[in-house]
Amino acid sequence: MSLQGTYDPQNIFAQIIRGDAPCYKLYEDDDVLAFLDLFPQSHGHALVVPKRSAARNILEVDPDALCKVMGVVQRLTRAIVDELNPDGVQVAQFNGAPAGQTVFHIHVHIVPRYAGQGLGIHAAQKADPAELEQLQARLVRRIDG
Ligand code: 5GP
Repeated sequence: MSLQGTYDPQNIFAQIIRGDAPCYKLYEDDDVLAFLDLFPQSHGHALVVPKRSAARNILEVDPDALCKVMGVVQRLTRAIVDELNPDGVQVAQFNGAPAGQTVFHIHVHIVPRYAGQGLGIHAAQKADPAELEQLQARLVRRIDG
């Protein structure tokens, strides 16, 4: 998929936003949804998406929707750092397959980094559901608290 193209309403994040597919939800308001990455590259890898934008990438997304997403990215990054104590955090966003994008509904990655630990392969290995559930509970408590 190149930068140019048509938004596919059947993409997995659109399904998650509609409630047609499950997710380990961390945060939701009228405009933004945040959930755990199912194939995490590190412990606590989370994704933040706009709910009302049929946008594949940063070129297409409405700036107001992007601002709301980034507000939640900051809030969730703080919660992740407070709860998981990583040594660093990557905040990333990919546009187009050659840039590493695999799901074509715009999203921002929050990837905690731990000293001495490499990064898992992108979108490759499914996490243990029990671990995701536990992580979800910890982070939801931290965001709400
Ligand atoms: P991208 O490669 O488009 O920047 O990121 C897509 C991300 O979505 C990847 O990190 C991948 O692991 C994650 N992902 C793919 N399918 C699913 C899914 O069904 N549920 C969740 N929660 N994450 C997914």
